[in-house]
Amino acid sequence: MIEKQVVVIGAGISGLKTASELYAKGCKSCVVLEARDRIGGRLYTAPGYNNNKYDLGASWHHDTLVNGLFLEEVGLPKEERAAFVFDDDAMIVFDKERGRVDQDPEMALEVLMEELLKFNQLQYFEDLDVKDVNYFETIVKYLYERRDLLTDEQIQYLPQVARFMESWHGIDWKTQSSKCLEIAHQGRNAFVLNYDTIVKRVGSAIPQEWIKMETEVSEIDSEGKKVVVTTKTGEKYACDYVVVTIPQSILAHSLKPEPRKGRIEFNPPLASGIQDAFKKTHYGSLGKVVFEFKDCCWSRKRSRVLSLGSSTPDITAKVRDADDLASLVEKLNLDTQYNFKNGESWDFPLFFVNLAKHTDIPSLILLMADPLTAYIESLPDKEKLYEYFEPILTKVLQALDCTEPIVKDFDDKSTSDGISSPVLKNIMTTKWTLDEYALGAYSACEPGDDPMDLILSLTNNQTSKIRFAGEHTIMDGAGCVYGAWGSGKREAAFIADKLGNFGSHSKTL
Ligand SMILES: Cc1cc2nc3c(=O)[nH]c(=O)nc-3n(C[C@H](O)[C@H](O)[C@H](O)COP(=O)(O)OP(=O)(O)OC[C@H]3O[C@@H](n4cnc5c(N)ncnc54)[C@H](O)[C@@H]3O)c2cc1C
Repeated sequence: MIEKQVVVIGAGISGLKTASELYAKGCKSCVVLEARDRIGGRLYTAPGYNNNKYDLGASWHHDTLVNGLFLEEVGLPKEERAAFVFDDDAMIVFDKERGRVDQDPEMALEVLMEELLKFNQLQYFEDLDVKDVNYFETIVKYLYERRDLLTDEQIQYLPQVARFMESWHGIDWKTQSSKCLEIAHQGRNAFVLNYDTIVKRVGSAIPQEWIKMETEVSEIDSEGKKVVVTTKTGEKYACDYVVVTIPQSILAHSLKPEPRKGRIEFNPPLASGIQDAFKKTHYGSLGKVVFEFKDCCWSRKRSRVLSLGSSTPDITAKVRDADDLASLVEKLNLDTQYNFKNGESWDFPLFFVNLAKHTDIPSLILLMADPLTAYIESLPDKEKLYEYFEPILTKVLQALDCTEPIVKDFDDKSTSDGISSPVLKNIMTTKWTLDEYALGAYSACEPGDDPMDLILSLTNNQTSKIRFAGEHTIMDGAGCVYGAWGSGKREAAFIADKLGNFGSHSKTL
């Protein structure tokens, strides 16, 4: 039995922050147990073609007016912090058939989008008992109720533009709760170059001997005076406090009997409040695909491009002729079934970041939501990925003023010097849905969910000795890096306070 004051489970940003704060506060006896062979968790910077690197986990500092991690970063000397750029410039939006639909004075889709979000918000503000429905239904309701005030083109394109929200929540419009749809941005978004700098900085503020990699925890026993944490290989740690930072998706498996990677057996089992709260929360799967080109032969004027899913051709007539909302929802639902298994790439909204604008790197990063993410992440190789995305990629490049056909050169054989075509050298994709220690991207809300329940039940805790941190345990910055980071800070402060700020106590261990 190894004795420690604190055991931290997981070396993602929340676990790293917990341990670094504990160390800064004087803790002498702590261990961080991490299942993977690297730190960072869902912060993962991967190498690509030509020594470029990409964040396959988080990319942005969100809410930069209130984001504690961002504010800490900007207070550091430039050479110690991760570079970043504000990239919220106006987005190019295009449809397969029609071409660009953004900033069209006749359609005014940007203004309509704002009105739709307000419409959604008002329906829940006005009456607390209004049933939570999926976002798709709210969009149809808006079209139905406002149809006499909308043009045919607005009815046709607004629904697909509205699906941009999928790339925030990581789940599709038919799964997303309308009640939890709104994102109240607290300041601009800053694109980070890259998050590995932050992971290294926070990780290096912890004594390296505290961090035990490839050490999966399988059991937490809190029946005795000390909490006993057991690893998969049978090592046992007795501690005063344990901070559990494993993702919500993995923690959910503690409620099920089946053994699986990452699952922790709690003895006694997780409290009933926590168990109930899990019924009202879900998990999304934002995914990314990086397209790396040899050179940039497209416009660098805009950094954001949204490719719309195909709109239903006769949607306008159906909306105008509908006798009631319920039958319209049913009809349009049937019209908008997904067909991705047959390689139909136009059923989903795809959000592209044009890296060349801010970084000179000739790459496009695509963001997608579930269920497309799970499908794409399961494709076996670059050829299949290319086959799926080629039609859209061609259109995205056209939207960025590049009309030359793409030359695929994964083997790096093409003597492409001097040609003006975009030469595609590599495609990378995330694998979070297949990753045993992530099982997706971050917490998300389906109709009827209430994320507060899980946050409150986890922060009220199993016992005061079993603490929880991570993106799913905090309201300010929920789902975000800075939320996870803030939850680590919170738990370290709690423990330091309880242990008398590590005065004489630490010396006795
Ligand atoms: C594709 C994608 C894009 C995103 N984009 C953004 C963005 O732009 N901005 C933003 O703010 N956020 C974004 N996020 C969310 C952000 O990455 C997460 O909120 C944050 O990194 C979560 O940190 P965490 O410490 O809570 O969890 P994690 O980073 O998941 O850390 C938990 C750790 O626990 C370990 N673990 C699991 N089980 C065990 C076990 N049994 N024993 C020991 N260790 C275990 C895991 O290996 C992991 O290292 C994105 C996430 C994804 C996946």
